Amino acid sequence: MSGLYVHVPFCLTRCGYCDFNAYTGLDHLRSRYVRALLREAELAGAAWPEPVETVFVGGGTPTTLAAEDLAALLVALRERYRVPPGAEVTVEANPDTVDVGKLVVLRESGATRLSMGAQSFDPTVLASLERVHGPDAVRRAMAAAREAGFEDVNLDLIYGAEGETLASWQRTLREAIALGPEHVSAYALTVEPGTPLGRAVALGLRRPPDPDLQADMFALACELLGEAGYRHYEVSNWARPGRECRHNLGYWRRRPYLGLGAGAHSFRGERRWWNVRPPEEYLRRVEAGELPIGGEERLGPEQAHLEEVLLRLRILEGVPASWAEPRAVEPLLDAGLLREQGASLVPTERGMLLLNELVLALAG
Ligand code: SF4
Repeated sequence: MSGLYVHVPFCLTRCGYCDFNAYTGLDHLRSRYVRALLREAELAGAAWPEPVETVFVGGGTPTTLAAEDLAALLVALRERYRVPPGAEVTVEANPDTVDVGKLVVLRESGATRLSMGAQSFDPTVLASLERVHGPDAVRRAMAAAREAGFEDVNLDLIYGAEGETLASWQRTLREAIALGPEHVSAYALTVEPGTPLGRAVALGLRRPPDPDLQADMFALACELLGEAGYRHYEVSNWARPGRECRHNLGYWRRRPYLGLGAGAHSFRGERRWWNVRPPEEYLRRVEAGELPIGGEERLGPEQAHLEEVLLRLRILEGVPASWAEPRAVEPLLDAGLLREQGASLVPTERGMLLLNELVLALAG
């Protein structure tokens, strides 16, 4: 089994914190880009015999594409890859780019799951994140998703933006829970160099997130989502039982995946490779009949082990205690960063905030 990721790099506006391969002002390339994705799917499909049990169309904002283009893409992927019945097919959406009509087309073209970028229900926080939608747009989009027949919806949230208080985050969590999504992702805002937010923080024009406040916000998310019946199954992800994102679990369990589109990454065995990032270069390469590969790396055994320890900690399955030196483990147990679960060591809520330190201690 494997996963298929399709990258759509277009966005309505650029959020200041974003370091994804996403662009504004390239709307004129949309239809050409979809044709290139179909061509790349053909070119790459020949070397991808595994069944594809999950498809994830992400971005960027895939729902900036016309409904017919998205439908053509989903249908073509099913034709070109071995997608079994029951496959999970997720499309990422921003609230301002969907309505019932578009979502019905997506459902009829095989999408089974919608992942919505809500981020916050506080207009001040949304403005601080430079998001274009307001809280009402999320409520409308959620209602439209249900009307269109989506029974599997994720809401993405971000905490720790400038101006956000613990009380505001609590309201956001309660509003998100009240909408009844099957899945919630909650990410701590990070400041990436090279983004507008990173530059503003470097110049002292914006305040970086307060790590203590973010730790409190994380604890609150654990508490409220847990009370509401969501299972915490990855550091930043909660789901109703059986509604975990199978596609992302595939990444975390090191299942092979193929990425299509500008900058998309692929992985199989020890090899990881990625496509060229700029959409124009991607288009040129694919239109010339080439695979648009921009680079590759091979993981050595040490790197693969480090990665496996990190991923096992992230999905809260933990690592076998026998993998680590007892003298490295004891201080982490004493400090309340790890706990024993059968024969495994699993991060505690506090430990989840210090995963990199845990990885170094356990894999060293
Ligand atoms: S909508 Fe998402 S991908 Fe697009 S700029 Fe904002 S954060 Fe980045």
